[in-house]
Amino acid sequence: MRAIVIEEQGGPEVMRLTQAPDPQPGPGEVLIDIAARGVNFIDVYQRSGAYSVSTPFTPGVEAAGSVAAVGSGVAEFSPGDRVAWAMLPGGYADRAAVPADRVVPVPDGVTAEQAAATLLQGMTAHYLTHATYPIQPGDTVLVHAAAGGTGLLLVQLAKARGATVIGTASTEAKQRLAREAGADEIIDYTATDVAPAVRDLTEGAGVAAVYDGVGADTFDASLASLRPRGVLALFGQASGAVPPVDPQRLNTAGSVYLTRPSLAHYVAARAELLERASDVFGLVAAKRLDVRVGGRYALADAGRAHEDLAARRTTGKLLLV
Ligand code: NDP
Repeated sequence: MRAIVIEEQGGPEVMRLTQAPDPQPGPGEVLIDIAARGVNFIDVYQRSGAYSVSTPFTPGVEAAGSVAAVGSGVAEFSPGDRVAWAMLPGGYADRAAVPADRVVPVPDGVTAEQAAATLLQGMTAHYLTHATYPIQPGDTVLVHAAAGGTGLLLVQLAKARGATVIGTASTEAKQRLAREAGADEIIDYTATDVAPAVRDLTEGAGVAAVYDGVGADTFDASLASLRPRGVLALFGQASGAVPPVDPQRLNTAGSVYLTRPSLAHYVAARAELLERASDVFGLVAAKRLDVRVGGRYALADAGRAHEDLAARRTTGKLLLV
C-alpha cells in the first residue's frame, strides 16, 4: 500500500510517498481501507517539529473508510462497516490498523468525505461550545479564524446554541464565508485592533468566551476582549506559541479563566467519544451542520496541502482523497 512517511521532522518536503507493507490488525484493532483523510493544523505542527513526535511516522490524525478486517477480540465492528477515527496517527496512507475502541461508526447519510471532514474539527467545535465554555442563549462569543476548518464549524455550533458570534478573518472572501456560516459581526484582524472593536460591538461589556486557535498573534486581544469572569479557550497556535503568561494578567482582565484544551481530553472515555461523534454526524446527516471542503488533494500532494494551510491560503476543510 502507499503511505506518507516522515523520517525526520521539517518542511513539507519531508513527507515522502512510499510503498509500505499492508498492516495487519492486532488484537483489539481494526484494519481500515481509507477513503478520505482530513488535513489538520496539528499535522503541520507534527511534521514541522512544533510538536514532538517520534520518527519515523505516518502523519494524519483523521480518516474515514471501511473496515477491511478485524483483529481478535473485536466484537463491535465487522468487515464492510463504514467507520472513521480522529486523534490517532497513520491517516496519510491507503490502510491503517487502529484500536477499535477509538473508531466510530459513520451513519447512513454521511459520506466518507464528510466524515473525514468533520470528525476532528466538528468534535473540537462541539466540546469547545458545549463543555469548555458551554454557551448560553444570549451570550456573545468571539471566534478567531472564523473561515478556517474549525472556525466555520465553531460559528455554526455557537449560533445553534443561541450566541451572537463575532468572527475574525483575514480576507474579504474569508469574511464573507464566515458571515454565510452565521457570524453576526466580522472583524478583519489584519487591519483592525480587535479588543476595541469587540468593546464597540458589545457596548463595552466584552464577550463571554473567546475561542482562539491562532495563538501568538491574537492572545493579547483575546484576553482584552473578555467580559469579567469570561473564558479564553486557547485551543491552538496557528500563528505560533503563546509566550508564558503571568497569572496576574487574568486578574487584571477581570478574574477571567484561561484554558488550553485538547480534543484528546474531551473524548478520552469511549462513551464521550461516541456521543460527540454521533452528535456531529447527526447534525451533518440532518443538514444542520454545513461542511465546507475548501480543497481536495491527492495523497502524493500532501506537502502542497500543508503549504496552502500554513500560508493561510485555505478556507474550510482540506482532504486527501
Ligand atoms: P484552519 O483551517 O483554521 O487554518 C488556520 C487559519 O488560522 C488560517 O486559515 C488563518 O485564517 C488563521 N491564521 C492566523 N494567523 C496565521 C498564521 N500566522 N499562520 C497560519 N494561519 C494563521 O486550521 P484548523 O481548523 O485545522 O485549525 C485551527 C486551529 O485549531 C489550529 O491552531 C489547530 O491546532 C487548532 N485545533 C485544536 C484542537 C484542539 O483540540 N486543541 C483540535 C483541532 C484544531 P485567516 O487567514 O482568516 O487569518
